[in-house]
Amino acid sequence: MAKSPETEHPNKAFGWAARDKSGVLSPFHFSRRDNGENDVTVKILYCGVCHTDLHTIKNDWGYSYYPVVPGHEIVGIATKVGKNVTKFKEGDRVGVGVITGSCQSCESCDQDLENYCPQMSFTYNAIGSDGTKNYGGYSETIVVDQRFVLRFPEGLPSDSGAPLLCAGITVYSPMKYYGMTEPGKHLGVAGLGGLGHVAVKIGKAFGLKVTVISSSPDKEDEAINRLGADSFLVSSDPRKMKVAINTMDYIIDTVSAVHALYPLLGLLKVNGKLVTLGLPEKPLELPIFPLVLGRKMVGGSDVGGMKETQEMLDFCANHNITSDIELIKMDEINTAMERLAKSDVRYRFVIDVANSLSPP
Ligand code: NAP
Repeated sequence: MAKSPETEHPNKAFGWAARDKSGVLSPFHFSRRDNGENDVTVKILYCGVCHTDLHTIKNDWGYSYYPVVPGHEIVGIATKVGKNVTKFKEGDRVGVGVITGSCQSCESCDQDLENYCPQMSFTYNAIGSDGTKNYGGYSETIVVDQRFVLRFPEGLPSDSGAPLLCAGITVYSPMKYYGMTEPGKHLGVAGLGGLGHVAVKIGKAFGLKVTVISSSPDKEDEAINRLGADSFLVSSDPRKMKVAINTMDYIIDTVSAVHALYPLLGLLKVNGKLVTLGLPEKPLELPIFPLVLGRKMVGGSDVGGMKETQEMLDFCANHNITSDIELIKMDEINTAMERLAKSDVRYRFVIDVANSLSPP
């Protein structure tokens, strides 16, 4: 008979889990594996709340595997390291992001692209390399193979730095890969949420002109005066959208819901690139005419490999890039999820795990 989450591993663990597609999170007792030779045990301090957590607890994509303990923007302290661990020692501040396993021997892994390994395992809602279920960062501790643990740079705050572990790398990686970093070029950022606001900051650090394309007119002042965007377009304002046609070299699309790509493709110049990162629950329609007539390109990208994630953290530390956050207690998570569903967060919720999570 399969063991229960509470007894399948030797070490007691506690977190908050969703039990069904209502998505309501509540206290959950489970267990964590012993720290293996290659593992780092992390006492979790902070965990960001990504829209992917919300998609997953609501089963938007149809493969949620309950109970789900979400959370993949984790910053904490290494409390135990295995005997083969060379990269970390006890007491180090570390990060854990979206992936915690891969085969470590395929072409993708050899190229530091663990995120594209066919056997890659996500930090939660997935089966780990030991054949048991992964539970994420809305919990006290996590045990992770050292390859999937990041050094958290000294200058980066633990709370506002945590979202970089998903939001940061998810926008940084495609900007590098698709060549969207040439100073002076014009970047559009569609959707000003967790990913989008970090894309604005990273875009500015690369020396780009950045325009936010948003469905929320009330974000204009913050986008320009707080986040540093150069201009702001309301996607439902046809007059402003028309003036901006053929002005952008690249667009990063972070919108989490089904939306039209046609207006975004119109904003691109000839040879422009649109990278879609959002994962709406239904497919988007891809208009072919603007692609063909303007030699435009649409691509996608999934977080980033471990080497590049470390590079991104160091880049952000060097450029003083952090996330704008609303710090919450664990028992405020259900309200936070309701607000996230309405794009009502400035701009990432982060859970103060160490100071607010305790078993009942
Ligand atoms: P978020 O904080 O909720 O931001 C999404 C933004 O999309 C919102 O702030 C809103 O911006 C816009 N939006 C939402 N609903 C909309 C609608 N109906 N019409 C138009 N715009 C709408 O989410 P996030 O954490 O940044 O994640 C964004 C998406 O990326 C999610 O689907 C998530 O699962 C996905 N994701 C992908 C990867 C990857 O590797 N590719 C990694 C992480 C997350 P405005 O108010 O400015 O319009």
